Amino acid sequence: MSGRVLIVGGGPAGLACAIALRLKGLCVEVLEGKTWPRDRVCGEGIMPTGWAVLERLGVTAYLGPEDCSEFAGIRYWDDDGRTARGPFPEGIGRGVRRQALSRALHRRATELGVILTDRALVKTVETLEDRIELSSSAGRHQGDVLILAAGRKTLLLDQLNLQAGRPFAGRRFGARQHFRCRRWSDDVEVWWSNGIEAYVTPSGENRVEIAFLWDQSNAPPELKSPEPFQGLIRRFPVLQERLQGQQPDSRFQGTGPLAWQAEGDWPDRVLLMGDTLGYGDGITGEGLSVSFEQALVLAEDLPPRMARSELDQAALQPLRTRLTQSFRDTLPTLRAALILARWPLLRRFAIRALSRSPYLFSHFLAANMGVRPLWRFPVIGLCQAALGLIFPSPRQRKG
Ligand SMILES: Cc1cc2nc3c(=O)[nH]c(=O)nc-3n(C[C@H](O)[C@H](O)[C@H](O)COP(=O)(O)OP(=O)(O)OC[C@H]3O[C@@H](n4cnc5c(N)ncnc54)[C@H](O)[C@@H]3O)c2cc1C
Repeated sequence: MSGRVLIVGGGPAGLACAIALRLKGLCVEVLEGKTWPRDRVCGEGIMPTGWAVLERLGVTAYLGPEDCSEFAGIRYWDDDGRTARGPFPEGIGRGVRRQALSRALHRRATELGVILTDRALVKTVETLEDRIELSSSAGRHQGDVLILAAGRKTLLLDQLNLQAGRPFAGRRFGARQHFRCRRWSDDVEVWWSNGIEAYVTPSGENRVEIAFLWDQSNAPPELKSPEPFQGLIRRFPVLQERLQGQQPDSRFQGTGPLAWQAEGDWPDRVLLMGDTLGYGDGITGEGLSVSFEQALVLAEDLPPRMARSELDQAALQPLRTRLTQSFRDTLPTLRAALILARWPLLRRFAIRALSRSPYLFSHFLAANMGVRPLWRFPVIGLCQAALGLIFPSPRQRKG
């Protein structure tokens, strides 16, 4: 099939999209400003739906146990010592070290013949009637379609007359560090404390990642200390004890603010995906999976449009709607989780209720992955949750 697609950004979204389009026979070039493999601050949890896409794209063959661990669900730990666990309704999630994910995507893309250009920081974008022209630090590039997958808040948006907006109020930040140690749980753990959460994700047979998320209004003063990780982990004494004496496996790194979305009319021949289109928060761990699903949407919808040369804004509108919707679908559960982060008393009641209701917790996970509508609450789960409010599971640790 003729037609050339230029993808700006060789993160997980851009590479997954390149693979999916290449499998449909398109000629694809990825322009990455830095070099592969890419690393970045991330909770590193891939939901079962996201993993299923990676399997379809043939990427999982390149991920071995040294950088990839299974997890069966999510476990919440409240700071009063109570816990609640939600198993995934279907499938298994994976914790994958970001560099290893980048390496695997890059290998698969290379194998399929995607043109991969690194050190190609794209500086200008021109949308012409019959093509797209880009200039980057590696030279000039021409294509029929531009897919912008350059992460949050790329400066290129200005050139396309798009603006930076926010899907909801509040400014949250995140940070992470890896440690060489054996996992102690089959789940991703979320430890709640007032104003900050800690996420524990196994990402390799001998590696655990600890990520923190917090609201700007509650910025932990420990961040200004010479050893910010040690300061933050003190808020979670059980985790601190577990990590005692374990060797760090990465540098402590932070990022933010997290929530953002691109606003305005997309120009002709231009599509947005991944974090460039919109991103909410790490609290529900769905960013990568949403990007991978968007890659499939693009691979299904774009090739026939390119064959018919239907690439103006009006013709691309249905595709834009589908891409945007996949991001918007994650917002209801995300908002619910952010309410728990903000209101400790509410969280206490929610975790009491969920402590007796794995069905309800599992339902929230299904809704977050887009496999079940949020409003279709399981009756048995609601009954269990009501019971949990009155008779919660006993505390498993001292509060
Ligand atoms: C604290 C935190 C925790 C998270 N936890 C999870 C989690 O557990 N699970 C999950 O699924 N998601 C999580 N996420 C979200 C996830 O990290 C993102 O959704 C994901 O990285 C999006 O990938 P992307 O390819 O869109 O963007 P990025 O990973 O940011 O990649 C963008 C790429 O574009 C390149 N680029 C930028 N500008 C240019 C340019 N002008 N020219 C050329 N190249 C350019 C960059 O160098 C980069 O390589 C978390 C995020 C944070 C911040």
